[in-house]
Amino acid sequence: MPTAARIETDVIVVGGGGAALAAASSARSAGAEVILLEKNPQLGGSTAWSVGSVTATQTPHQRKAGITDNPQDHLEDLKLFSSALKLEHRDNFELGRVLCDHSPAMFEWLLSAGLEFVGPFPEPPHRRPRMHNVLPNSRAFPYLLGRHCTKQGVAIHLNTEAQKLIIDNGRARGVIAREPDGTTCEYIARKGVVLAAGDYSGGRELKARFSSELIANVDAVNVTNTGDGIRMGMDCGGTVINGDYIRGPILRFVPPMHTTLEQRLPPLPAITKLLHWGFDHLPKRILRPVLMNYLTTALAPEKSLYEHGAILVDRDGLRFGDERDQPAHSAATRPDGLAWMIFDSTVADRYQQWPHFISTAPSVGYAYLEDYRRTRQDIFHCAATPGELAASMQLPRAAVEKTLADYNAGLQTGDSPMRGERPAIVKPPLYALGPAKAYIIFTNGGLKVTLNLEVVGKNEQIIPGLYAAGANGQSGMLLEGHGHHLSWAFVSGRIAGRNAALYVA
Ligand SMILES: Cc1cc2nc3c(=O)[nH]c(=O)nc-3n(C[C@H](O)[C@H](O)[C@H](O)COP(=O)(O)OP(=O)(O)OC[C@H]3O[C@@H](n4cnc5c(N)ncnc54)[C@H](O)[C@@H]3O)c2cc1C
Repeated sequence: MPTAARIETDVIVVGGGGAALAAASSARSAGAEVILLEKNPQLGGSTAWSVGSVTATQTPHQRKAGITDNPQDHLEDLKLFSSALKLEHRDNFELGRVLCDHSPAMFEWLLSAGLEFVGPFPEPPHRRPRMHNVLPNSRAFPYLLGRHCTKQGVAIHLNTEAQKLIIDNGRARGVIAREPDGTTCEYIARKGVVLAAGDYSGGRELKARFSSELIANVDAVNVTNTGDGIRMGMDCGGTVINGDYIRGPILRFVPPMHTTLEQRLPPLPAITKLLHWGFDHLPKRILRPVLMNYLTTALAPEKSLYEHGAILVDRDGLRFGDERDQPAHSAATRPDGLAWMIFDSTVADRYQQWPHFISTAPSVGYAYLEDYRRTRQDIFHCAATPGELAASMQLPRAAVEKTLADYNAGLQTGDSPMRGERPAIVKPPLYALGPAKAYIIFTNGGLKVTLNLEVVGKNEQIIPGLYAAGANGQSGMLLEGHGHHLSWAFVSGRIAGRNAALYVA
């Protein structure tokens, strides 16, 4: 296809999630003219799908709570997460130091862009509370950071898909991108290019290459993150570290087809400030209904439900193994990766209050069965008999009836391996939640980068002018513990953007 156009600027940022917006903003602050290319019709990426936890130290929130903290302690605690998994040998603590050292300034920057957080919340083995959760939800990141970038003068090109890096004499000179009208355009960077195009959770080829066919076949929460930035970096000599380290499959309830008015409200500072005030001052019973609208959109069911008697069935109404043993892996092999959770009134009565919740968003709140009844009628099912429950779930009636009858009989059969292990599903009314789906949440493989976020190419030589941030520049960091991925996206984006702006050939 003939090249239709050529546009020149100082810095080109590929992507429109947290890392890209941070990169674009900091490149602009460093005086560069910046173009940001986002392939989707809107900004956000996985950043906008996230729960919204950001882990940082020395924040105004910590100070207000009387917590004395510092980046060195943060780094030491970050190491505890990897060592608890016996994975410290695979982690990259040199970059971990960069993350921890820069998190205080990064958090101040988020606040200056109008973001509101509640917290800090504890999360052992962190010795001090460091997790902050954005209000009202993670869509606030692209909304407010996008506005911030636009105000600064960043040119944001939506529906523009970067396809290939332009490399000239070993130096990154720009990208070739597909324009909204289908033509291609050469975007030339006088200074640097920042790859911030997210992970490959939705990229079949890269998941198969780094992990397995099973993982490759599991859908992602964010299907449009196909690993384009990583592929572009690899095409010019970059290497991927910890490509097999993947979060998922995990069962999560499918998101609602229709959003409520509250969910559609833009995260305007006036609204988030009000919510913040409410979080600090109002009794939780008043704020809960509002928070639940956000929380119950796509959360994972707790594993304890299976211990207490819930079973899973697939789209054919069939059970597919012991739910207590990696249910998401088994669900991933069923039609469309879908599963419905069935239980009776004994379980239902139990899951109405603390400590028995159906799902949680770390520290923001706990969703009980009643919350699902109120906010997720689309996945909440209740009926007097197995047949009526099947009808509500739109699953084959006879199959569901037989599955429940066989399961209950198995619990009573003398030589059955299931005997006496769990309560039978008998007490009416019967309940079901679903569909839930096995998802890959995110992948952790990132391009190898230096401490300045320069991409390392063949023979350990940096590729001049090329930077990577967020998932693209994860460079072996495991980022275990809630809130470290987003912190890394913002910290690395800010550093990469600034360095790209200051790059001189
Ligand atoms: C359900 C869920 C919950 C999570 N919760 C948390 C949490 O609470 N805390 C936390 O720390 N982490 C969380 N994470 C992880 C975190 O969201 C990601 O690690 C982080 O957002 C990555 O940021 P990023 O900017 O690198 O990528 P993204 O935010 O994914 O942005 C990448 C962007 O690049 C665009 N793009 C891709 N290819 C191209 C191309 N060829 N051309 C142009 N643009 C392109 C994409 O469309 C996307 O907008 C969660 C992830 C998920 C999926």
